[in-house]
Amino acid sequence: MSTPESSPPPHFLRALVAADKARGAYGGRVVTRFPPEPNGYLHIGHAKSICLNFGLAAEFGGVCHLRYDDTNPTTESVEYVENILHYVKWLGFDPGDKIFFASDYFAQIYDYAVLLVKKGRAYVCDLSDEQIREYRGSTTEVGRPSPWRDRSVEENLRLLEGMKNGEFAEGSRVLRAKIDMADPNFKMRDPLLYRIRFAHHYRTGHTWKIYPFYDFAHCLSDAIEGITHSICTLEFENNRELYDWLLRECEIVDPPHQHEFARLNLTWTVMSKRRFLRLVNEGHVSGWDDPRMPTLAGLRRRGVTPESLRMLAERVGVAKANSVVEVELFENILRDDLNTRAPRGMAVARPLKVVLTDQAPGATESIVAPLFPPEIGLPGVRTLTLGRELYIEATDFSEEPPEGWRRLSPGAEVRLRYGCVIRCDEVVKDAEGRVVELRCTADRKTFGGVAPEGRKVKGILHWVNAATAMPAELRLYDRLVRVERPTADDFLEELNPHSLEVCQGFVEPVIGAADGPAHWQFERQGYFFRDPVEAAAGRLVFNRTVGLREGWTAEAEKPALAAPAPVERVAKPVEPHAARALPPEVEARRAELVARHAISDAAARVIAVEAGLAGLFEEASAVATPPAVAPFVANVVVGALRQAGRPPETVSGSAIGRIVALTEAGTLGAAQARRVLELLLERGGNPDDIVASEGLARVDDPAAIAGWVAAALAAHPGELARYKAGQASLAGFFVGKALKLSAGRADAAAVQAAVNAALAG
Ligand code: ATP
Ligand code: MG
Repeated sequence: MSTPESSPPPHFLRALVAADKARGAYGGRVVTRFPPEPNGYLHIGHAKSICLNFGLAAEFGGVCHLRYDDTNPTTESVEYVENILHYVKWLGFDPGDKIFFASDYFAQIYDYAVLLVKKGRAYVCDLSDEQIREYRGSTTEVGRPSPWRDRSVEENLRLLEGMKNGEFAEGSRVLRAKIDMADPNFKMRDPLLYRIRFAHHYRTGHTWKIYPFYDFAHCLSDAIEGITHSICTLEFENNRELYDWLLRECEIVDPPHQHEFARLNLTWTVMSKRRFLRLVNEGHVSGWDDPRMPTLAGLRRRGVTPESLRMLAERVGVAKANSVVEVELFENILRDDLNTRAPRGMAVARPLKVVLTDQAPGATESIVAPLFPPEIGLPGVRTLTLGRELYIEATDFSEEPPEGWRRLSPGAEVRLRYGCVIRCDEVVKDAEGRVVELRCTADRKTFGGVAPEGRKVKGILHWVNAATAMPAELRLYDRLVRVERPTADDFLEELNPHSLEVCQGFVEPVIGAADGPAHWQFERQGYFFRDPVEAAAGRLVFNRTVGLREGWTAEAEKPALAAPAPVERVAKPVEPHAARALPPEVEARRAELVARHAISDAAARVIAVEAGLAGLFEEASAVATPPAVAPFVANVVVGALRQAGRPPETVSGSAIGRIVALTEAGTLGAAQARRVLELLLERGGNPDDIVASEGLARVDDPAAIAGWVAAALAAHPGELARYKAGQASLAGFFVGKALKLSAGRADAAAVQAAVNAALAG
């Protein structure tokens, strides 16, 4: 349901393309490309690149090519080619007929190599791989010229042709550009252009005995296709000089330009095809589409929606410096999206049987329950049956409950969600002393949320009716790794041994219906997705997509959300959840909000549900810009109000607006804004005073930042030693720790600079 904000946030690539277009560069054309190597499945990082390339092209009236960068015959396959196209489309982008293969350009690329040789810009070199490395020098030492560097043009042409014809052994010769062995940029020290390989290529078979290297093939493929903006990740920054050199020497007119952006990294996530291959090949996961994998195939099977991935790409933006995005950001986007699309139902993962001893065998109660809570504004009901036997979650019962236990225990009372209050009278155990059944009595007067004699029932439990429930396997997924930032070398040792728990449970009938929705929120448990692979085999299996937000228990157990009164016998059939029409007055408010304030439809749908909320939004919009106010109200304020049990009318809209304005001004980060809101709801007052008294303002004081950085380094001597031993990627780790020490208040760019300075010093 989430759609990108109506006015996408500015970023440097968008600005750059806009500027190129404005000055009429490339005749006003915008042509981008997504260039995967077909040697593995796409992952969530690729999703960012796909959204960016296809998104920019669409935005500027251009086109985006899907180009397979298939220049390495030994690792590529048709399976990967097909899978990549499938998931580009699944994400919501269609390359149409703009699907290309670098291997289709092999003949042209070879002609360019001949041109370079003829111009004296390339030569055949007979050094071994190892010698080439050695001759290249180091950061402190210039390289030495190859003894083959001054071969004549004629000899080079003859040898290159021989290489092409398979006359020389693999590894015996390469073609190199003749640039400068003393260039401070390593990539310019006579880079390799062609190598000999006798392997079978999945498209060109044995036609070619030589294959171009990435740097040579990539810039020329871009040129051949008339790409204008060649967007890639930061690790290719040093390749840009070579990219430009090669296109210049190949005499390309109006050449494309390369622009780099920061790749997407996520905490708690392994992200690289090489590592996925190990996970798959060594059997740590069930395959590329295991729902724990951050591959698009795995994410889809887990129940992640393309909308949430596109929203993530938009939210993380496009930066010029690498950073690690907290996976919680993605989980929240996902919940927001599923919240408005997944109907609610009840499922029990670890069933414990409850017998209502005062219920006559065969007697049943029918209860109509909504498929969506009122704030979602979507229609639909389902009918629950309550008979003599039901299942509750085994973890909702404790024989010797700890202090503050709000669920079931001997002698205690709880409410069944949408149902009545039950009391546990007797605990039945098996020969080994395990609890196998609870014998309870039901208080029928308490249907419909009625609490006679002011009786306070602490907990509300989810349940399913034993006679009508359908058996289902619930797969509870957790993070694949047990460290926030898995390290490259020993990530297998950092795997979470409890990343999958398989439960044989039960779901209410509406969830098990064959033609029902695939996404569900199992109440009190999380969002689940019907496993498409198992469903095809006729089995009922649900994958946990993501758990509920913290604080869900309190929400679910609020009596206000308890049941409508029971109706005798079966009532209305379930309405299809596809109907997304809003009630007329909500729809009128939604349309007005979108028209007047240019806010996103997703936010408007949430805000329009209550007149009070819309009023609050209007008031706040007088103080801050509406497109910034809208997501804050829809995503943050709504939840906080519910948590605090406060109607929107009791909160000052201008105070909410002020919080957003402070965020827009850079004074507050997202976490701080949430905190200010919580305190505002708790004790009133105004945001500026709260920020001042709680010290929540963003800090860019260099001394304070240096202090946090120093503390972060001091607290992690092991990582510091690994950094000094050459693991440069740990710089980001220290940035994260220092940000944490500042409770998120420090300016991230300033922290990054301070970490770099501290590590250099
Ligand atoms: P990995 O190193 O993760 O295995 P890759 O870079 O080798 O991936 P390619 O098939 O070469 O995978 O990538 C295709 C495109 O996707 C490239 O333009 C690359 O820059 C981009 N890309 C890869 N990983 C990410 C990421 N984490 N974030 C953003 N873009 C990415
Ligand atoms: Mg790559």
